Amino acid sequence: MQLLDKLAAQLEERRQQGLIRTRRTVESPCGPHLTVDGRDILAFCSNDYLGLAAHPAIVDALREGAARYGAGSGAAHLISGHSRAHAQLEERLAEFAGPYLVESRALYFCTGYMANLAVVTGLAAGDKDTEIFSESLNHASLIDGARLSRTALKVYPHADVEALDELLGTSTAANKIVVTDAVFSMDGDLAPLPELLALCEKHGAWLIVDDAHGFGTLGEHGRGALEHYNLRSPYIVYVGTLGKAAGVGGAFVAAHATVIETLIQRARPYIFTTAAPPALAHALLASLDIIAGPEGRERRLHLSRLVAKWHDGLRLSGWTALPSHTAIQPVVIGANEPTMRAAAALYGQGIWVGAIRPPTVPAGTARLRVTLSAAHSEGDVERLVRAVNALNVQMNAEERTTDGT
Ligand SMILES: *Cc1c(COP(=O)(O)O)cnc(C)c1O
Repeated sequence: MQLLDKLAAQLEERRQQGLIRTRRTVESPCGPHLTVDGRDILAFCSNDYLGLAAHPAIVDALREGAARYGAGSGAAHLISGHSRAHAQLEERLAEFAGPYLVESRALYFCTGYMANLAVVTGLAAGDKDTEIFSESLNHASLIDGARLSRTALKVYPHADVEALDELLGTSTAANKIVVTDAVFSMDGDLAPLPELLALCEKHGAWLIVDDAHGFGTLGEHGRGALEHYNLRSPYIVYVGTLGKAAGVGGAFVAAHATVIETLIQRARPYIFTTAAPPALAHALLASLDIIAGPEGRERRLHLSRLVAKWHDGLRLSGWTALPSHTAIQPVVIGANEPTMRAAAALYGQGIWVGAIRPPTVPAGTARLRVTLSAAHSEGDVERLVRAVNALNVQMNAEERTTDGT
C-alpha cells in the first residue's frame, strides 16, 4: 500500500494548504439557474457567455445532426472520421475568420486544449532553430504546448510589449513564435494585439492568438479579438474555442492555408485522436448563425449592459474588482482562505461564483471569478452585486474583530 499511502499524504498536504478542488454535480442544462443537490442556484461561473449552451435552435440542430450522422465519428479525421458536417463547419469558420487572415482555412479540433497543443507543437516542430515567446498569463494549454514542443522558451511579462521587443530583437532563432491569450482568462483584460502584431511583423515572427474568451463575444459580428482590433496578417494563427460563447464544444484554428495543411500533416493532437461527433459540428453551424446574426448582436449588447451594471453597483473595500470590460469579472481578495470562505458564503445564499487559487493565478491574488452571460437578467446581476457588497462589509467587520482593532 506504500504507493497509495504516498498519494494520500500528498492529497492531505494539498487539503491543508486549502488547495483541494472539488466538483459539484449539476442536474439541469447550463444556464443562469442551475439545479444542484435539488437546490435552485444562480450561477456566475460558466463560460457560456452568450447563453447558447441550452439554446433551443442549437439543441434542435444537435438532435438533427445525430439523426443524420449518428452518435460518433468512428475514426480519426485522417482515416474515415472526417464527415460532411466537419467539412461544412471548417468552411464556415474559415469564412468567419477570413477578413483577418490571408488565404484563410480552418481546422476543427475536439477541444481548445488540443488545438493549442497542436498549433504550438505544429509550428515549432519543423525547425530545430525555434524559439517560443510566451506571455506570462497564458492559459495552461499554451504552456503545455510549449513544453511539449521541447524548444527554447522565453516568458515575457504580462502585456509588456517593450520587453517582448527586446527578447525578439536579441533572438537569433530562425523560427520565432509569439504566443498569447487574447482575453486573459483569470483577469478579463485584452492583450495589446495591434502592438504584438507589429512586433511580429518587424521581427518575422508568428503570432498565435488564443481567443477562447473573445470568440463570439468581441467584435460587431462576434468574430472575436481580431475583429475587435481590426487586424489582418498572414502571420496570425488564430485559435477560437467553441465550448464557451459558441455553447457547444471543440475548437478551431484559422490561419493561412499553408499553416493549416502543416497542422494536418504533423500536429499529433490532431492526427492521433478520434474526430469529435459530427453532430457537434452540425450544431455549431446553428450556433455560428446565431452569433453572426441580429440575435448574436443583441446578446452581446445585453452582456455589455450587464458588465456596466456590475461595475456601477460594486462598493468594495479591501477587495479589488479588476477593470475588465469582458464577461470575465474577477474580484481579487488575496489569500486563499478568505477567498474560499467568500465563495462558500455566496453559495450558502444560492449564488455560485468560482474561487480561483494559485497555481491558476499568482500567489496572493486568489479571487472570485464572476462570469456574466447574456442569459443573465439585470435582476440576476443586481442580486449578485448586493450579495458581494454585503459580504465584503461583513468579512471586513469580522477581520477587525479578530484583529482586536
Ligand atoms: C478554456 C480555454 C482553453 C481550452 O479550451 P477547451 O475547449 O475548454 O479545451 C484554451 N485557452 C483558454 C484561454 C481557455 O480559456
